[in-house]
Amino acid sequence: MEIAAGSCETVAVRLPAGVQATGRTCPVVEGDVMEHVAIIGSGPAGLTAAVYAARANLAPVVFAGYQYGGQLMFTTEVENYPGFPNGIMGPELMEAFREQAERFGATIHNVDVTRVDFTARPFRIWTDDAEILAESVIVATGAAARWLGVPNEERLRGRGVSTCATCDGAFFKEKEIVVVGGGDSAMEEAIFLTRFGRHVTVVHRRESLRASKIMAERALAHPKISFVWNTVVEAVYGEHHLERLTLRDIERDEVREFTADALFIAIGHDPNTAAFAGQLDLDAQGYIVSPDGVHTNVVGVFVAGDVYDIRYKQAVTAAGMGCKAALEAEKFLEHGVAHAAHALAT
Ligand code: NAP
Repeated sequence: MEIAAGSCETVAVRLPAGVQATGRTCPVVEGDVMEHVAIIGSGPAGLTAAVYAARANLAPVVFAGYQYGGQLMFTTEVENYPGFPNGIMGPELMEAFREQAERFGATIHNVDVTRVDFTARPFRIWTDDAEILAESVIVATGAAARWLGVPNEERLRGRGVSTCATCDGAFFKEKEIVVVGGGDSAMEEAIFLTRFGRHVTVVHRRESLRASKIMAERALAHPKISFVWNTVVEAVYGEHHLERLTLRDIERDEVREFTADALFIAIGHDPNTAAFAGQLDLDAQGYIVSPDGVHTNVVGVFVAGDVYDIRYKQAVTAAGMGCKAALEAEKFLEHGVAHAAHALAT
């Protein structure tokens, strides 16, 4: 279905600085199905948004992605999600999120969104074989942790190899821990992991850190942290669990074995925003820009979770953001553009 540009009506909306209201409304062709809320992404943010939107009788449709469930699908035990005193397996937790959303009327499709058009309402979303119209959209596509791409890394994920110290650090009490990376995340994770590990070794590919001065100084001065410079991890080994690594000193071109129980990879994240380039404001690293962590630069399009949140990246914070986005979408559908202006001004 193509909407002729000339048939759209433009409504001028004044919003606080930094937030532009497109305010362009186009007629819906008879026979087209219009969704109230389309949610893109199915991690804790997307599925919490789905629970809230479904309970508000908005019958949300969720584009979960072919690899649905988000980052927790790659985790083993989750011990810090409130409500599970004995912990829960990541995939099991995401199944429960999904069941809860479906119970209240969310429809979940395990397909990727390939393209969007947010320049006018109704918004348009494309998957491989469908085009969907939606009055409002919640973008909760998350961010993917970068992995090293070395031999055995994938097999040992959740078995000593992790990208989340907050999630998995507590499993390594009195163990030998390695952290890879030289940025703030690596320093933060290394310092955090000293609470559990016998010793933490930071392996960094250069001889100076990218991290902020204060974080770098804290890590460098820590008695339980040591640094291996100009070095990369070349492979990880272990039958059922990580047992050792191969490290290559790239200055001297020397390879050695290193015994370790855990490897935390902290080399950055990539937000999943390729489909939104040119449609939503993105920052230099590709994260969605939002003045309040809920609204985007397009009125009626909301954001939730790691695709915005460069700092916390926790399941529980993502879930909280999903809740906020759904509540704002509900208000937007009820009161229109005027609500967005009010919500942002207060
Ligand atoms: P980052 O600043 O991009 O640092 C990534 C680090 O990983 C760099 O040291 C980089 O090395 C290294 N690296 C990248 N790819 C690698 C590879 N394939 N193999 C080995 N090493 C690799 O990412 P981040 O630390 O996740 O931080 C992201 C943003 O969040 C930053 O703006 C940071 O300041 C912020 N942040 C702030 C806090 C805080 O304030 N408490 C905490 C966490 C994050 P090179 O240095 O050689 O490029």
